[in-house]
Amino acid sequence: MNFLLSFDVEDWFQVENFRGVIRRELWEHWDGKESRVIGNTLKLLELLDRHRIRATFFVLGWIAKRHPELVREISSCGMEVASHGYGHELAYTMTREELREDLKHSKEVLEDITGREVLGYRAPSFSISEGVSKLIQEAGYRYDSSYNPFPGNKRYGSIDLLSQDSQGLYRIGDLVEVPIPLVRLHGMALPVGGGGYFRIYPLPFFEVLAKKYLRQHGHYLFYLHSWEVDPEQPRLRGVPKGYYLRHYFGLSEAYGKLDRFLRDMEGYGVRFSAIEEFLRMRGKLCRHFG
Ligand SMILES: [Zn+2]
Repeated sequence: MNFLLSFDVEDWFQVENFRGVIRRELWEHWDGKESRVIGNTLKLLELLDRHRIRATFFVLGWIAKRHPELVREISSCGMEVASHGYGHELAYTMTREELREDLKHSKEVLEDITGREVLGYRAPSFSISEGVSKLIQEAGYRYDSSYNPFPGNKRYGSIDLLSQDSQGLYRIGDLVEVPIPLVRLHGMALPVGGGGYFRIYPLPFFEVLAKKYLRQHGHYLFYLHSWEVDPEQPRLRGVPKGYYLRHYFGLSEAYGKLDRFLRDMEGYGVRFSAIEEFLRMRGKLCRHFG
């Protein structure tokens, strides 16, 4: 059973839930905010080092451009560096030209820093669509991890995925899709990929769901944002209550909870890996897998 661990590397002020308060279309507004991404990402690297685990880091191009030393550190710690796009715009809201540029620019920035090919992409807020997936492929990515089938969040995009294999993976043309886990329990669809759901669910319940997914699919993908392990981050005023709760709930426990989760899953006998490594092992990065 394979446990694929992933982190989205971005700052606390770049999230979609704060869009109404922080005018991201003027990127200089981001530059004026207190950046905490370095400390948060180093905390995660330290945790992974302690557990001797490899993970995939989907780094935002905007962050990479300003903190290339952080990207080098992630890579030199043996982690996979993948792309979270450049400007954290929802992929399906961009024009084809804007998205093309965003996908290409973020890939190039990361490759220039690490000297390694970037194979994976994850869209901000899982904003995938048919058209987006075609452009991801066209930009030269080999896999995508943006499809979150949870129907309860209107922001998540969707695609028609017809060819699911026995491992719960899909292929769209040459692109491999590694979806975000969802478990059905008593007729309910429960998102169990990580993020806010990891902070909200009690850990024993989250683990029951993750193990159920693991048994069904033979692998399990987990994600967390770098700002989710940072209880000291500034509290933003004027954010609608629902978004405020989703962003700030459980931040002070998240790091310790992740530590315990990894330890428990080690005890359950999973094999941890970065996404790229897992796909390679399964032969999924060949152009014509069956
Ligand atoms: Zn993001």
